[in-house]
Amino acid sequence: MIGCDCRVCLSKDPKNKRMRPSILITVNHHNILVDTTPEFRLQAIANGIRRVDAVLFTHSHADHMHGIDDLRIFSKTQEDPILCYGNSPTLARLRHAFDYIFSPGHYKGLLPNIKLESVEGPFSLFGQTIVPIQVMHGKTEVLGFRLGDFAYVTDCGHIPDKSMDLLVGVETLVLDALRWEPKHPAHLTIPEAIDISQRLQAKQTYFTHMMHLVEHHETNARLPDGIELAYDGLVLEVN
Ligand SMILES: [Zn+2]
Ligand SMILES: [Zn+2]
Ligand SMILES: [Zn+2]
Repeated sequence: MIGCDCRVCLSKDPKNKRMRPSILITVNHHNILVDTTPEFRLQAIANGIRRVDAVLFTHSHADHMHGIDDLRIFSKTQEDPILCYGNSPTLARLRHAFDYIFSPGHYKGLLPNIKLESVEGPFSLFGQTIVPIQVMHGKTEVLGFRLGDFAYVTDCGHIPDKSMDLLVGVETLVLDALRWEPKHPAHLTIPEAIDISQRLQAKQTYFTHMMHLVEHHETNARLPDGIELAYDGLVLEVN
C-alpha cells in the first residue's frame, strides 16, 4: 500500500509483493487474460506474455480494468481483434471510461483493437467452454469464470446459491479472501473463504486479493490443508 510502513509492505520477500489480481489462462494455444489491471504491462513483461487473444472482465473497478490501453502492443502483430467479454454494466463502463478506444474521433496514436462481447451465459472460446458465475461484490455484480475443473472467483462478498451450484465439482478454485477480520461488505474474509472452499470440497484452493496486512508465510501456516495463498507468478496446470 502506498505510504505504508507495515512489515508486509516493507518485506523483501517476493511473496509479500503483490500486484493487482489477474490471471492468464492458456487453452489450445490461445491466451485468455482475466482483467487488465493497472500493472498489466509490468505483469506481461514479468511473465513473458507474447499474445493475448481474449480478455474476460470480472467487473469494472479500476484495479481490474485500467490497464486496458496496454493491450495495444498486441494489436501491432495480431490481426484479429482481442475479444473482450464482460457483463453489460462492465461493457458500458469500458465504453465510457475509455471512449477514445471505442470512438477514437481525433485521437492519434496506436489503439488496442478490441471487440466487446456481452456475457449472457456460458460461451465457447478457442474450443473451451466458459461458464460465467455471478457473485456479489457489495452491490456490484461480478463475474467469476469456470473452465472445466478450474474456477476463478475474485472480488466477492457473497456467492448466491445458484452460483454455488455452478461451482460444485470444481477441483482447483481461486477465491477472493481479503483479510482475517473484520468482516468487509464487498470481499470475503479468510474464514468466510475457507468455509466456501470446504463446502465445495475443492481439492485445492488459492486465495487472491489479500490486503497488505496479510503476511504470506504466517497466513499459509494457519490455513487448512488444501488451501493456500496465491502469489504473483504462480503457475498451475488444471483440467
Ligand atoms: Zn502495509
Ligand atoms: Zn472490485
Ligand atoms: Zn478488486
